[in-house]
Amino acid sequence: MSKRVSVTVLGSTGTIGVNTLDVIARHPDAYEVFALTGNTNIERLVEQCCRLRPRYAAVLEEKSACRLRERLSREGLASIEVLSGTEGLVQLASHEDVNYVMAAIVGAAGLIPTLAAAKAGKRVLLANKEALVMAGQMFMDTVRTHSATLLPIDSEHNAIWQCMPHPGQSLTAGLQGGVTRILLTASGGPFRNWPIDKLHDVTPDQACAHPNWKMGRKISVDSATMMNKGLEVIEACWIFNASPDSIEVVLHPESVVHSMVEYEDGSILAQLGNPDMRTPIAHALAWPSRMASGVEPLDIFKVAQLNFEKPDFSRFPCLRLAYKAIEVGGTATAILNAANEQAVAGFLDRKIRFTDIADTVSATLDAMDVRRADTLETVLEADRCARRVADEYMAKLN
Ligand code: NAD
Ligand code: MG
Repeated sequence: MSKRVSVTVLGSTGTIGVNTLDVIARHPDAYEVFALTGNTNIERLVEQCCRLRPRYAAVLEEKSACRLRERLSREGLASIEVLSGTEGLVQLASHEDVNYVMAAIVGAAGLIPTLAAAKAGKRVLLANKEALVMAGQMFMDTVRTHSATLLPIDSEHNAIWQCMPHPGQSLTAGLQGGVTRILLTASGGPFRNWPIDKLHDVTPDQACAHPNWKMGRKISVDSATMMNKGLEVIEACWIFNASPDSIEVVLHPESVVHSMVEYEDGSILAQLGNPDMRTPIAHALAWPSRMASGVEPLDIFKVAQLNFEKPDFSRFPCLRLAYKAIEVGGTATAILNAANEQAVAGFLDRKIRFTDIADTVSATLDAMDVRRADTLETVLEADRCARRVADEYMAKLN
């Protein structure tokens, strides 16, 4: 039997993590789980360890690590070594016995371990878009310098990647091979048709009720504000070396076309499928081959109609802010990301209104100086400072 591919799943207890383990479990002869990591959901991590028997598990806090060790030894799994802290995550992302790293931690917390995987030359399956938004230049430079392989998991970027003329080469070459534009699709989230003047009253549960995708709460709120699409524009600029004006956001409420690439001869290539993250996950795991993902084939007769609309920037001010941040460049996108994370957390804790999210991000961008994002310390400092500024702004609301 040939050697199995060894995979670390960062953020295994989240939505992407769970979907990744589902795909891996369908191909036990091809993949083995080297390490699983979580944060607060210890019981889910224990259950995953029982099923997949990794060599390592890790959580952020040492206190949670103690609890995890106790629970694993009660299950007869004391042989699984438990690490903690960012250093633990870094170790598991860069360990020499690891081939692939699924980067599925949510938010800025994913940056350092994801960078470590790139630095160690791994195949990086990138779900953690915030890492690219914060430190795109540094991240892509690290991928190139250390010959890592970056495969996008975000469904849109995975779709674009599949529609590119030379998947993989586009990482360094920019839009080429006759590509003229990227058409990045967006469902428009739960509030695509809500009266704009009612948006300030929406609740966290309403914002998290996405019409087509089941996702973690942070990205669900981002989808409702369309900051998610803004972060994805920035992500696409880095992954495909594209300028922001070559990326057009297209509202497509069915979420069946996951994105498109336009060519100079008039062709538009699209990737279609049911909205299920196991497709991009299986694609990135198996690339350049293909393998079964467990996703139902798309019934195009049932879909019957596909709709496309231009987004209304006045309904979705976060989208405009994201375009502005990538145009400005430097630490502006790290500031955008940090302010957004603070604002989304504030909204989920019912401290601010839905419409305050965009205002908080906008005020934070206005208040801060932008620097060149050429060192990790500069990026992390911009992140810390933006969180402080956003918190101060939110404290003055109400
Ligand atoms: P989630 O909230 O369901 O899971 C997040 C994971 O990160 C959990 O395993 C959690 O334990 C871990 N985590 C959270 N904070 C942490 C910290 N401080 N330190 C270490 N680990 C921490 O989120 P999700 O929906 O799975 O999304 C994960 C990432 O994938 C996000 O960046 C998101 O934007 C991206 N993504 C998600 C989807 C989707 O369909 N869910 C689609 C595209 C991209
Ligand atoms: Mg996406």
